[in-house]
Amino acid sequence: MIQRPKGTLDVYGTDGTIYNYIYNSAQEIMSGYNFEFIKIPTFEETSLFYRGVGEGTDIVNKETYDFVDKGERKMTLRPEFTAGVIRSYIENKMYADNSVKKLWYFGSAFRYERPQSGRYREFTQFGVEVLGVRNAFMDAEVISLAYRFLSGLGITNMKVKLNTLGDKESRQNYRDVLYDYLKKDYDSLCDTCKDRLERNPLRILDCKYDNERDYIKNAPKTLDYLNDESKKYFDEVKEALECLDIPYIVDSSLVRGLDYYSDTVFEIICDYEELGKANTICAGGRYDGLVELLDGPKTPGIGFAMGLERIIIMLKEMEAFVPSERLHSFVMNLDGSSLAYQIVDDLRSSGFSCEIDYTGKTMKGLWKLVDKYNPTYVIIIGEDEVKGDYVTVKDNDTKEEVKVKISELLDYFNMNL
Ligand code: ATP
Ligand code: MG
Repeated sequence: MIQRPKGTLDVYGTDGTIYNYIYNSAQEIMSGYNFEFIKIPTFEETSLFYRGVGEGTDIVNKETYDFVDKGERKMTLRPEFTAGVIRSYIENKMYADNSVKKLWYFGSAFRYERPQSGRYREFTQFGVEVLGVRNAFMDAEVISLAYRFLSGLGITNMKVKLNTLGDKESRQNYRDVLYDYLKKDYDSLCDTCKDRLERNPLRILDCKYDNERDYIKNAPKTLDYLNDESKKYFDEVKEALECLDIPYIVDSSLVRGLDYYSDTVFEIICDYEELGKANTICAGGRYDGLVELLDGPKTPGIGFAMGLERIIIMLKEMEAFVPSERLHSFVMNLDGSSLAYQIVDDLRSSGFSCEIDYTGKTMKGLWKLVDKYNPTYVIIIGEDEVKGDYVTVKDNDTKEEVKVKISELLDYFNMNL
């Protein structure tokens, strides 16, 4: 028997309901914040990710799904969305009218990882990118959007971690100090971090093995190497968050080890046992150098990405999700007449959810289906009803029955909304 590829998921049943619920909630909040939806290709030229995600990163070093297509082009399944969204922003000249672009996306991302709870090879990301504005209140809007979205889903136990990398000058400054510090203890670093030291020492602070050690915990902090301009911007972001009532903690070890990241970085962590170490739900930051790096005009940007599957794990655990709406009615076709199908069609066309059996179930079997679907109404259509041009409507909660003329059925339900 063929099985699904390792690290992939079949999302169905309750998970499928929660998945749709999250997607619908995302659509709703995005329109409230006036974001535009963008859909980008699932695969791009490999070189985009080398430049846009960065060569020194785990993602590009070992996690991408690469292939050569039949035209000998090197392609990669998107491991994240930011690079593709920025590519599209530049290619479609979305900067042309000098406006602020607020974009949101939703879809699969692919990474060759060691699968475990909350970590898959195909997973769903939902996120935003805001281009063309550098303003502390915009940073706060992006962070608060993520926070309000998650709390709107009923998630508690959230921690918003905040840090700043400062501008280019501050980062260079910090990088040199950090390099000298880490170099002294080179031998005790894990193999990956040894490799990171020359290319990207900031990544070492983010290492899943080394970051538990005191030596790394006591490493120099970005906050001590900020120039005045960067310090001021960080203070403004913190004030803006306070103004919007978003609780946060400053975590000076939070980094994004890529050159084009600047100033604000943040993560939302949720402490739920089921997530284990995969407890980062959302990660984001300001990337004022990225558009330029991908050959576009100098444009500030900020965004975040969050992982849907991790949210599903939490919502399921909390049993807090709102499942799909109750089925409005179930039609019992006892006479086998085509009238029943017409009524189902009319109800659905008028916006009432409705179900009917097509498998020839007996009376007992039909009532079992009623138990399963738990509709608000059961509409009974038997011989008497067909002859008399009416249906019997049973309220499935009170068990009361009324006879309603077929021509008046829609009015009846509209009046009983
Ligand atoms: P981690 O440290 O957990 O590996 P990351 O830094 O690689 O995360 P990002 O690239 O910032 O993650 O991606 C943003 C979000 O996407 C993460 O916070 C997480 O919720 C989700 N995510 C990332 N990788 C996976 C994966 N393999 N499976 C499921 N969700 C993922
Ligand atoms: Mg990762």
